[in-house]
Parts: sequence; structure tokens; C-alpha cells
Amino acid sequence: MTGEAVLELRGVSKRYPGPPPLEVLRDVDLTITAGEMLAIVGPSGSGKSTLLHIMGTLDLPSSGTVRVGGTEVGALSDRRLAVLRSRLIGLVFQQFFLLDGVSALENVALGLLYSGVAPRERRRLAALTLRRVGLGDRLFHRPTQLSGGEQQRVAIARALVTRRAVVLADEPTGNLDQTAGARVLMLLTELNDDGTTIVVVTHDRDIAMGMPRRVELRDGRVVADTAAAGAAGPVRQEEVAR
Ligand code: ADP
Ligand code: MG
Repeated sequence: MTGEAVLELRGVSKRYPGPPPLEVLRDVDLTITAGEMLAIVGPSGSGKSTLLHIMGTLDLPSSGTVRVGGTEVGALSDRRLAVLRSRLIGLVFQQFFLLDGVSALENVALGLLYSGVAPRERRRLAALTLRRVGLGDRLFHRPTQLSGGEQQRVAIARALVTRRAVVLADEPTGNLDQTAGARVLMLLTELNDDGTTIVVVTHDRDIAMGMPRRVELRDGRVVADTAAAGAAGPVRQEEVAR
């Protein structure tokens, strides 16, 4: 699938009526190709999470169009949207959002709950995915028995268990120390090497600089995109991840 647009935003704006009315995203054009890995950077409040949620179809734009895997999401019913999302997109957040009462294995298996996969097979796939993120020896630990970095890897496994083509991560290393953060980033890089498209919102300057592509937001606008031809030009070193 490499070379095809998996995510395409055209003229995307997001407004909240207020008061006071807020324009959180302004006329965003963004094309993400299958197999890409990129960072979205920008100051706090610049619209990064809003953009990621719109790319993940958790939120709809006020105007503009969003295509996921070639399908325009605005035209879909909630049900078809949920199906498209569960087939293609995995989301990972700064707060890991794991269920405390159940094991890592069950948390990941829950990612397959609505997939039509039988319970036994869900658990087998969950174990496989946990091994893939380096947690084969933590299958039956509960989230409270795991370090922050391990919990984030469980969350990534949950996002991956249905073999989604795109993983969108919002500050995935924001709650982790440097070592655990580096490990999570290495995992995302490995997934990208295997063909998963990865979009990472990050404040971390080193992480952003290590990415093949950087998109910078300022007040809801894309002010730089290292993949854009000419126009916005490359993100300058000092502008990244403030
Ligand atoms: P970032 O992730 O870059 O810090 P966000 O996308 O979370 O920025 O937020 C961008 C702006 O949108 C912020 O000013 C925030 O207060 C505002 N915002 C986010 N969600 C809502 C909402 N549901 N209603 C009104 N304003 C919102
Ligand atoms: Mg945010």
C-alpha cells in the first residue's frame, strides 16, 4: 500500500461556538502516505490533539474534508465510521487508558471485542501482539503491576492487535522517563519499518528531530511541513517542539 494516501485532510477547520468562539484548526491541508512516520509539533493549545482526533475520526471538522483509506468520512454513518476506524486506525494516548481490573492480555484482547473474532482467538492474538512489543513475560500482570513504559506498550499492543494500518499517538512518551520513552519510540519506529503508518504528536524536541517528517502547527494553522514542496519550507531547528 506504500505510496497511497492513507489520510487526507483538505481545508479542515474546527470551530467551537463558545463563548468566546474559538477557531482551533484553520484550513489545514495534510496528506499522509502509507508507510510514513511523522511528528506533529507546536506549542500547547495550537490544535495538535484536535488535529489527531480528527485524523482518527473521533471528531469531525466544522468544514473541510477528511479521507481515511480513500473514503470520505463525512459521508459515513456512525456505524460505518466505527467499522472503518476499527479496521484502519489505532489510537495511543499520553494517559494509557487501560482497564485496571484485568490483565495486560485481557486489555489487548479487548481491542478485538467488536471484530467478530472468537474469544479464544482474541487471546491468542493479544499474546502474540504483547510478545511483539516485548511484553511476552508480562501477559498476566495488571496495569498497576507494570511500569509506565510497560503500560504504554500494552496500549500500543491494543492499538495494533487488529493489524491497523495507521497508529496515531498523542504525546505517547509524555508520562514516561527518558529510557521508557526511548523504548516506546523505538517500538513505534520498528512498527513503521514493518509498514505501519505512524503519526506522533510530541513536545519532545529530540523525538521530533529524529522523525523523517515534521508538521508544525501554530494557532491552528500548519506553518511548516518538511514534506511540502516549497511553500512552507522545512521546520527550523529552533521552532520545533516548544
Ligand atoms: P494541543 O494538543 O496542541 O495542546 P488542543 O487541540 O488540545 O491543543 O486544543 C486547541 C485549543 O482548542 C485549545 O485552546 C483548547 O482550549 C481548545 N479546545 C479543545 N477542545 C475544546 C472544546 N471541546 N471546546 C472548546 N474549546 C476546545
Ligand atoms: Mg494535546
